[in-house]
Amino acid sequence: MEIQRRKILKEKPNAAELGFGKYFTDYMFTMRYDASHGWHAGRIVPNEPYALDLASSVLHYGQGVFEGMKAFPRPDGQISVFRPDMNWARLCRSAERLCIPPVPVEAAEEGLEELLRLERDWIPAREGTALYIRPAIVATGARLGVHASDEYLFFILLSPVGSYFSGTLEPVRLLAEDFYVRASVGGTGEAKCLGNYASSLFAAEAAQRAGYDQVLWLDANERKYAEEVGSMNIFFRLGDTVVTPALDGAILAGITRASCIELLRANGCPVEERRIGMDEILESAERGRLKEAFGTGTAAVITPVGSVTYGGKTVRPEQPVGEVSRFLYRTLTSIQRGTLPDERNWNKIIK
Ligand SMILES: *Cc1c(COP(=O)(O)O)cnc(C)c1O
Repeated sequence: MEIQRRKILKEKPNAAELGFGKYFTDYMFTMRYDASHGWHAGRIVPNEPYALDLASSVLHYGQGVFEGMKAFPRPDGQISVFRPDMNWARLCRSAERLCIPPVPVEAAEEGLEELLRLERDWIPAREGTALYIRPAIVATGARLGVHASDEYLFFILLSPVGSYFSGTLEPVRLLAEDFYVRASVGGTGEAKCLGNYASSLFAAEAAQRAGYDQVLWLDANERKYAEEVGSMNIFFRLGDTVVTPALDGAILAGITRASCIELLRANGCPVEERRIGMDEILESAERGRLKEAFGTGTAAVITPVGSVTYGGKTVRPEQPVGEVSRFLYRTLTSIQRGTLPDERNWNKIIK
């Protein structure tokens, strides 16, 4: 693979002050698409500002999709990436929904592996940190007509990160949003596409001004059923059963979500994937059955929910940082870091 070297490497940030998505490594992987060549010209280049025609359709109509994964250092010095096959498959599904030609997975995978080998010194070691991987595909055709572009850019950025929210396992306060919606069945909610995030900012900012951390999105039809949080899927433990909204077409099918469901069931904990009404959550809390709630996602890992506010009422799970959240956090991060056996072959190991 072609690698364009840079003369001077960047200074690495202090591992204690990484935050999320503030620092980027020295290199990135890029690949281009046009109608006559298909996907071609995969190469590693310095991560520097990139020239784009300002008429590029992604800048006007948001034709673009992305992914998020994490790489971890292993005790044996190798690198592991958590379930990348699931991310590549989802990237292709998202691309299809946005009329973007899917990237050839082997080429994307090879680009990522080569990039990780080159950037291995950027993988932070400290507990709670990781090297975040951000692949994306954006439409670069310079035409203002509203139709699918005939040119695209695929790229992979790497960013050393700490925890997504302020601290690990710090409970967040959620506001169930009963006016604005994130997604509806038939819309683009299950695609990781650019517009979903831009359209969520307004309600998220209002919630933050009102003293909440995140919005809990409800279904678009009735504003009654819990769907998910900004970049996390949501789980509630009611009594001894863990309940999470079923994938109805408006919810992003999280890989952390799928992994948690599998781990819980394998450990004898019943999990129900179904509709879950805000009424049921408030009632469960009143009857002492709302034991815990947590969000799941690659960036946020497992984030406990400290309170949920809906229609002026605030309820608090009995355990602000519950046993199930702790179990999942510990198990997932230990599998990822190679300190627990990876029985399900979730880690892709890169030598
Ligand atoms: C990315 C994302 C998630 C989490 O998915 P993971 O695969 O677990 O990282 C959940 N909800 C939304 C809206 C997302 O964009």
